Formats: sequence, structure tokens, C-alpha cells
Amino acid sequence: MNAVVELTDVVRHFRIKRFLAPSQQVRAVDGVSFAVEEGESFGLVGESGCGKTTVGRLVLGMLAPTGGQVRVDGTDLASLSTGEMRKLRRHVQMIYQDPLNALDPRMPIGDQIAEGLAVHGIGTEAERKARALGMMGAVGLSARLADRYPHELSGGQQQRVVIARALLLEPRLVVCDEPVSALDVSVQAQVVNLLAELQQRYGCAYLFISHNLAVVRHICRRIAVMYLGAVVEIAERDELFERPRHPYTRALISAVPVPDPARRGRRSLPKGEPPSPTNPPAGCRFHPRCAFAVERCRHEAPKLLPDGEGHVVACHRVAEGEI
Ligand code: SF4
Repeated sequence: MNAVVELTDVVRHFRIKRFLAPSQQVRAVDGVSFAVEEGESFGLVGESGCGKTTVGRLVLGMLAPTGGQVRVDGTDLASLSTGEMRKLRRHVQMIYQDPLNALDPRMPIGDQIAEGLAVHGIGTEAERKARALGMMGAVGLSARLADRYPHELSGGQQQRVVIARALLLEPRLVVCDEPVSALDVSVQAQVVNLLAELQQRYGCAYLFISHNLAVVRHICRRIAVMYLGAVVEIAERDELFERPRHPYTRALISAVPVPDPARRGRRSLPKGEPPSPTNPPAGCRFHPRCAFAVERCRHEAPKLLPDGEGHVVACHRVAEGEI
């Protein structure tokens, strides 16, 4: 299967104040590599501030990497002109966390859904309108809402508008950045199920960014776990949840609420707060919070190494078979 997007050793540092020396930059993303295959749903999880949203913006070409490569359908984004990047945007769409902020408050939603087609010069006005109405039906919005404004809709309906707008362009990849976390709990499951259904129908790939492991487990085929700017584990969904290897992944999974009391185990988030990405710890970045840390962890950064089919883990003690 071909990769829709491939990140190779991608680095993105930010200088938050002009006078900061390079060593004091925020190292938001620090050597991230993974690929999302055609039509697959790939999850990127981790605590707030781990760099997952920055990865999404790098994939969308909204940020340029400080180092490494982001390739979409084999093309390095850094090699594209502004015009070529604009054309590529049709194939890589975004679903935002807060739908109201993503929509134009002064434009009827039917026009907003059709707008992308006009921007890319697709179809006549009548064709664009017909396609927008068809897509509204596909996302569960009545055509009677086409003339309404975003503030007249519920949060769930607003997010359906954002989804319709993204999918109408028939993208190859959709970056979904916390797409349900701003919605009422009662509609989160509906929107997640809708995203899964639409993926089946349209065959696009999702890069699904979330701090919510239960949501990611429901929709993703493979999952990467990020900690402080780096990927620490990648595995297929069932493998990750049934056989988490990295101590950080184990802690995250143990903290996911389980409805059945008989299946509840000990819930333990990693101790303490993540360190600052301005000055990440030497060696394994997780070592100040890791219950399994040994001396080697304090000065040698672990590499992502295979641990079973399709499963990679960055931990010295897992690699040595000690945990
Ligand atoms: Fe813990 Fe060491 Fe493994 Fe890092 S390398 S996760 S500190 S055991």
C-alpha cells in the first residue's frame, strides 16, 4: 500500500522570544517519523503539549519543518511553490477542534460548504450548489439548513458543516485535530461514528489527533504515541491496547476509563507533569517520570526499534527484554 503522507525525522523548533539562543528554542517536534497509508485511519495521541498538533500543521504545510521531510504522495512539501501548495491543499484537508471558529459567521453554511469547489475552479455554480446539498445529506444535515448561519446551528451540526466542507473536495487525507473534544459528550459518539462511515464511503485517510484514547481506539487502525516531541511507540490498535510496551503508553492506557467495574484495573497516570519542551531531559525524555528508569536512561536516548510485527517502541528496557 502507498503512503499518503510520510514524515522522515521531522523536526520543528520555535523560538518564542527573539533573544533566545538556539539551545533555548521550544523543541515542539524532535525527530518524528511515521507514514499514513492510503485510506487508513492513523491516530496520534499524547498529553497536551506533546507536539501532536504541530505535527498536524506540518502535514498540512501550514508550518515548514526545521529539519527532516514531510512528503505527501511522495512529494516533499518543501519543494513546492506557493501555487503548487495551493493545489495540494485540495487533497489534504483539516477538521478543527472548534467548529464555530473554523466557520465564517457571515456566510450561509451551504455557501461555505461549496466554497472550496469555487476556490479550486471546480464545476459551475449550480453544480457546486448541488454537490454541497448532496454532501449535507451525507453528513446528516437537512438541505433546509443551507441558508442558515453557523450561530443558528448546534455544536454537532457546526462540526458536520466543517466535515462536509472538508470532504466535498474528495481529499486523500484529512487531518482531524481533536474533532470531538469541543462537543457535548452526547454528540461526540455520533460525530465519531459519522467520521468512520464517511471514511468507508469516500476512502480518504485520516490523521486523527487526540488526547482521548477511547475515541482513537474506536476509529483508528494504527496508533502512534507521542511524548514531549517524539514518537515513543507505534502499533496496530488492538496490539497497542492489549500489549502496550512503552511505560508511558502503559500509563496512558491504564488511565482510560473502563465502564465495566469488573474489568477495571489500577489506574495510574505518569507521576508529575511533562518537563518543558524548551529544555527536555537528556537521554530518554520520559526518564524523570518513569518507574522503570535505570542509569542508561538518563544519558542515552532510546531509538524506535521493532517489537513484533508492525510494532515499534523506543525504550531501552523493552529492547533488552527487561520489562
Ligand atoms: Fe523508562 Fe528508560 Fe524505557 Fe525511558 S528508556 S521509558 S526511562 S525504562
